[in-house]
Amino acid sequence: MSLDVDVRLDRESFSLDVALSAAPGEVVAVLGPNGAGKSTLLGILSGLLRPDAGHVRVGDQTVTDVGAGVFVPAHRRGVGLLAQQALLFPHMTAEANVAFGPRAQGVPKREAEARARALLADVLPDVPGLPGRKPAQLSGGQQQRVALARAIAPEPGLLLLDEPLAALDVDAAPAMRSLLRRVIRDGKQTAVLVTHSALDALVLADRVVVLGRGRVVEQGPTREVLGRPRSAFTARIAGLDLIPGVREAGVLRTGDGTMIAGRETGGPAGTGEPAVAVFPPSAVAVFAEEPHGSPRNVLPVRLASIEPRGDVVRLRAAPREGGPEWLDGLAADVTPAAVADLAAEPGSALWFAVKATEVEIHPAG
Ligand code: ADP
Ligand code: MG
Repeated sequence: MSLDVDVRLDRESFSLDVALSAAPGEVVAVLGPNGAGKSTLLGILSGLLRPDAGHVRVGDQTVTDVGAGVFVPAHRRGVGLLAQQALLFPHMTAEANVAFGPRAQGVPKREAEARARALLADVLPDVPGLPGRKPAQLSGGQQQRVALARAIAPEPGLLLLDEPLAALDVDAAPAMRSLLRRVIRDGKQTAVLVTHSALDALVLADRVVVLGRGRVVEQGPTREVLGRPRSAFTARIAGLDLIPGVREAGVLRTGDGTMIAGRETGGPAGTGEPAVAVFPPSAVAVFAEEPHGSPRNVLPVRLASIEPRGDVVRLRAAPREGGPEWLDGLAADVTPAAVADLAAEPGSALWFAVKATEVEIHPAG
């Protein structure tokens, strides 16, 4: 279902003023630092918080309209919520947890249980006896998968996800990210995903809304906003180097034909599908002369700026004369000593090099 929001909420030292919309089946990521108002926004959408002004519409139902005095309670909004913590009912089995929503909607017991088992088999295919287990008999990552099944079991018109990967350890997060991609994105579930991770937004969302201090700073298609941030604020949040292109057997091919080698993530994707190559600026080595030898991606750039950042110096690239535009803004974090060795200044021709093992190639958009 579609989503249409325009709300304001005032607290003593914080105000939220946000308008956003989502088309049916669209996944919108809300990206922003701590305290930006992301959870407050989700609270307003889910019906846990009343805004001071504005409206929320889900499909053709108005669930909040301050002016008209409309406030549909949370459980009658057809909105599912997946929080950071799984928050399963501890005394119930996994199956009963997942069947709970459909049962509350009046789905007959047998049918609700069958739906629960099918969903559990989908999100956790290889855990024997899963339906009969209680949450305490599952790992954190497994509980979060059960919580996902529970959130989608009532077939909500809108699914809200509040940092669903934040509480998972580094081993569990990638698999959960892939599962979310399959269930949410590929399943055409309209969703609002709150995250402070640019990677989650890239892998999961069609569009991104960047929130800062309760205001929308930037919004648009995910790859555009994060790949070419218009504000330093967004660039800082994105915090990653990102090159858009399409997949081709083990590499990413950019619009101008450059091949970027990396590790493919997020399961199999066909040749020609949109993808992004992502790596941290700390993985970029910078050279004054073209490096040869060990296999890596070597990109000819022009130095655009030098920004001190604590212990490191961030070098920002721009394309050389006639070079591809995706080089614009690419960042490399190097030591002050390395900058001195390079004797580089804005305008200098440099080479940015990044090993294929440091580059992740993700399906996107
Ligand atoms: P985020 O989820 O983006 O980290 P929140 O929406 O939780 O941000 O918080 C936005 C602002 O509102 C913060 O300044 C936070 O301190 C404040 N805040 C959050 N919850 C409450 C509350 N229940 N009462 C008062 N202030 C709150
Ligand atoms: Mg929050």
